[in-house]
Amino acid sequence: MEFEWLSSRIADETMELVLVFNEHGNILYGNQTAAVKLEYDRDKLTKCRMAQIFRQDFPNTPDGFITFVKTSMKGVKEMTMYRSNNSCFSVNARIFPEDGADTYLLLAEDISAQKNMNMRIRELKEKESESNRARNEFTANVTHELRTPVNGIKGHVMELAEETTDPDQKKTLDIVLNCCDNMLTIINDILDFAKLESGKFVIDEKPFDFYEMMDRVIATHGAAVNKKELHMSVDIDEKIPRKLIGDELRLTQILNNLLSNAIKFTMVGYVNVAVGMTRRVNDEVELFFMVRDSGIGISQKEQDRLFQSFSQVDASITRRFGGTGLGLAITKQLVELMHGDIHVESEKGKGSAFSFSVKLKSEQVLDDKQSQVYVNWSEYMKEGEDQSVDRLMQFGEAENKAELKKRMDKLVLSIEMGAWDKAELLASTLKALIESGDDELKRRELRMEMAIRKANYEKSMDMYSKLKDAITQRIGDLWNSE
Ligand code: ADP
Repeated sequence: MEFEWLSSRIADETMELVLVFNEHGNILYGNQTAAVKLEYDRDKLTKCRMAQIFRQDFPNTPDGFITFVKTSMKGVKEMTMYRSNNSCFSVNARIFPEDGADTYLLLAEDISAQKNMNMRIRELKEKESESNRARNEFTANVTHELRTPVNGIKGHVMELAEETTDPDQKKTLDIVLNCCDNMLTIINDILDFAKLESGKFVIDEKPFDFYEMMDRVIATHGAAVNKKELHMSVDIDEKIPRKLIGDELRLTQILNNLLSNAIKFTMVGYVNVAVGMTRRVNDEVELFFMVRDSGIGISQKEQDRLFQSFSQVDASITRRFGGTGLGLAITKQLVELMHGDIHVESEKGKGSAFSFSVKLKSEQVLDDKQSQVYVNWSEYMKEGEDQSVDRLMQFGEAENKAELKKRMDKLVLSIEMGAWDKAELLASTLKALIESGDDELKRRELRMEMAIRKANYEKSMDMYSKLKDAITQRIGDLWNSE
């Protein structure tokens, strides 16, 4: 036999179809696999022609056949093989000429199962994306419809709240208004998410005043920052042009999401927003934002799934702080729609830094000479990190003592006045300040917090003075020193 190895059992036992043919296209040999797959007796197979087996691929004329083999059969080629009963299947085939002889060897792998599988996967994917589309459309419609009645309730409650003179009733109506606002935030998040998922979200680019937008964003969070007595600072690179073109509303939404999280998860210390320009080429402006806080932080493991939808770091956080777990998933998609990236750097108990970039346009077009790329802006940002917060958190340090005294004084005043919400907030900020103390201190603080939560005056005062004693025992009398 021309190809020596064909005489061995290997040719017969291989899973590939093996055919040997001459330059007229007559088959001289077919292995056992070829005979079985093509449904021929082996001696009948050797009486077949290649153009009969490969009737879609090979021309039937002897001359045309060999020209085709020589010119078109280089490397692996997907072809169709016909069985004796005229049904067919797909193969990946290679042809090798035998040195010095006018015979050729064809090796073919049956890929029909793989192709069927791929087709099935494609069909399933199409079905899935169709049902995703339907689900997102349904969600978008329902949430849209939900907004109308909630806005209706809100409007009427606002009217009532303005008219009423009864302080108890006013308090109740304010709670209803607050609930309406929370509900609207959730509805809007779900609506945005459904739109983003179904690809229906469009970025609306218009000219806007960048500095005015930043002022508005910061002002929005002023009340929450003051309530928690956090230190808020803003650093904006003055090189950033005032007039920019982009989606102001969505940029505001990204910043609001990050800022409200930073404030929500920070009990003591600071929240800082910094904006720099990383690139300015012709009319394109790339901005880099960083929102940092000295809050509860996020562990490495938790950071990995932070930008996935409906992911909250843990269930106890949901109970304590509320939220849908959609904010960061939406934020990430919005950033990507503005051709940017978002990252987080954080350490549990030490605060977080969320940074993102976006590409906007400037009304003023620079020529090539004026254009600039500013690198390492993020490195520069790291240098400015606020070290004083570390000292604030270190139990017994001067900064820590001053902050402890301030908060303890306010706390006792809140308990005396029966301002339980305020007292609870202050107690949880104390927790962060005594974190690096010892377990006994933490237990005392917890007992006090529980008494405050139950609005029990006697018990709260008792626990307060026990905590005060424990602090004094460890770092001296805060109230009579100096
Ligand atoms: P939500 O809308 O529920 O706040 P997000 O997607 O905005 O959801 O945030 C998801 C989770 O990520 C939060 O529940 C919280 O556990 C964590 N997280 C986000 N920002 C911060 C931050 N600045 N500090 C600590 N944890 C954060």
